Amino acid sequence: RVPCPAPGAHQDPHRAARRAEAGFPARTQQLRTDLPLQGGAAVTFSNMPDGGLILAVDGPSGTGKSTTCRALAKRLDAKYVDTGAMYRVATLAVLRAGVDPTDTEAVIAATRDLPLAVNDDPDSTEVLLDGENVAAEIRGREVTQNVSAVSAVPEVRENLVALQRRLAAQAHRAIVEGRDIGTVVLADAPVKAYLTASPEIRARRRYNQDRSAGREADFATVLADVIRRDELDSSRTTSPLRPAEDAHLIDTSEMTLDQVLETLINLVKESQR
Ligand code: C5P
Repeated sequence: RVPCPAPGAHQDPHRAARRAEAGFPARTQQLRTDLPLQGGAAVTFSNMPDGGLILAVDGPSGTGKSTTCRALAKRLDAKYVDTGAMYRVATLAVLRAGVDPTDTEAVIAATRDLPLAVNDDPDSTEVLLDGENVAAEIRGREVTQNVSAVSAVPEVRENLVALQRRLAAQAHRAIVEGRDIGTVVLADAPVKAYLTASPEIRARRRYNQDRSAGREADFATVLADVIRRDELDSSRTTSPLRPAEDAHLIDTSEMTLDQVLETLINLVKESQR
């Protein structure tokens, strides 16, 4: 990584291309944070009585959550807990067991003792199912199409929520990302953000991510998947996708990645204690 000396004067020639690839608009305005967003020493703000740090980030897919949370975790010397990856692993286990994802009892049985391990280092994408790194497979179409059905099962959620709380506590400093972090998993979090963006923009970002990761993608299908998954995730009975009452809403539709990062850093700063 190349440190960025001044806004607009990036030395990294690939930076703009990477940003465009991820579906974010080119930078349109100067940043208002006094922290360099990339590079430089990590910043150790604390917002917990024990000197730790917690930020809960929720929102539908394609809002830039994962990209920003990873970058933010590095910046704030924190762990990154991707709870979506855990529901994806549970879904992969269901599919590998040959179980119908809509058969609740069979899903519960197939995920009861899930041999799941996640790496919460923000530089790692490693997710293990029975010791095998399934990071690529859990982003595939089959898992994506079935994850909402599996994650709607209360028993599946109970197991994973317990694991997520343990991980956040062990991490001491953690950026925890998902759909119900601010409402359920860490309802007492000292700062919560809820990211949104229009379905078209979210689908475009997902599509670009898929293409740059070498996955087959067709925009209309990705858009239909995004809308369908939003509906399923928002309408389920247990822990539906919705902002916590005390969450800060951030519409990322017209924001650059750096602007989202800056906004989140400023929220964490405000929650310092
Ligand atoms: O964030 P990601 O798109 O990987 O999440 C995949 C799916 O996992 C979501 O569509 C949702 O069904 C489920 N999920 C959830 N609760 C979370 C995180 C993800 O139900 N905290």
